[in-house]
Amino acid sequence: MSVKPSFRVAILGATGMVGQWLVHLLDHHPWFRVVALTGSDRSVGRPYGEACRWLLGAPMPEWAAQMIVRPTEPELDAEIVISALPSEIAREVEPRFAAAGYLVASNASAYRMAEDVPLVMPDVNFDHIGLIARQRATRNWSGTLLTNPNCTTTAAVLPLKALMPYGVRRVHLVSLQALSGAGYPGVPSLEIVDNILPYIPGEEEKLEREPRKLLGRFVDGAVEEAGLVISAQTNRVPTLDGHLVCISVELEEAISPEETMRAMRGYRPPEEVADLPSAVAQPIVVRTEPDRPQPRLDRMAGDGMSVVVGRVQRCPVFTLKFVALTHNTIRGAAGAALFNAEAALRWMGKV
Ligand code: NAP
Repeated sequence: MSVKPSFRVAILGATGMVGQWLVHLLDHHPWFRVVALTGSDRSVGRPYGEACRWLLGAPMPEWAAQMIVRPTEPELDAEIVISALPSEIAREVEPRFAAAGYLVASNASAYRMAEDVPLVMPDVNFDHIGLIARQRATRNWSGTLLTNPNCTTTAAVLPLKALMPYGVRRVHLVSLQALSGAGYPGVPSLEIVDNILPYIPGEEEKLEREPRKLLGRFVDGAVEEAGLVISAQTNRVPTLDGHLVCISVELEEAISPEETMRAMRGYRPPEEVADLPSAVAQPIVVRTEPDRPQPRLDRMAGDGMSVVVGRVQRCPVFTLKFVALTHNTIRGAAGAALFNAEAALRWMGKV
């Protein structure tokens, strides 16, 4: 395309943890220009630089600091909204934006499992964006809503996608999830310093369901969920960013650790999305050192968009076991939603 694409974007829930990452990632996005930042009544009417307790290492962009936080209402001069709203707020607000004609790329869990809402990682199931046709027919929206999965789901789904040709039957996974996954202010320090919390409300259910939709087949305008069975146990640990997940998989075909690593290293995004700004050439990075991946050392692989896999071994109970790491606020949230917005534009033929 000779003319550079250009779209006006608003961030809903811009003052929160994911919202801040969106502001940061959109600072230099080649297609998207931020025209509005929204928040709750606590922030509306204040300059973003004052309303937002900025927690990223990179400085807040000057353009963002000066923007006045707007109400989260569908009266923004944008074509695309990226939603980083809490789920209970998203449930009420996001359909109003989609009905008003916006392309809504949401991080929230409210509509992820709805039959007519695409749950997408573009380098896993780009074709599921086709659900938009059904959504338009059933909801009578002039806009669109699509969602990205739970942050921990992203760590499991990319490696499992690479293993699908070998017949993934059963999966057991245990997560070690970073503090930023709980948003801000998140977990009180007196509960998490020198500690691990073996319960994250609602998380295990999401991990057991979302991969089945993401790894399912898009047939006759609907998603047929994959038949795999997943058992998940989730823990909050005192790291800042990067969810580590220990995964055991039962396959129909018993492949070796070497073949597993080859399949994961060789996994490539579908050609429709390979040139999108948020795509990475190597979605799964495989490490062979016995003590990797580690959150602090590996979470920024592929600018935070690659999942890093290591410790690939035979499993005495299932077929294989390995460890996977995802940057929860980039690949698992802000970067995921941007990638989805780009992919939806590609599906619509606008880029
Ligand atoms: P957070 O830090 O708690 O931020 C919540 C944001 O929503 C803030 O900007 C807040 O604005 C705004 N908000 C709250 N109530 C509102 C209301 N009534 N009307 C309008 N805006 C309202 O949460 P987060 O961690 O960024 O998560 C955002 C969403 O992404 C959640 O649905 C979460 O489940 C999902 N998610 C998070 C992660 C992660 O790793 N953190 C990963 C995947 C998905 P004020 O500051 O003005 O109150």
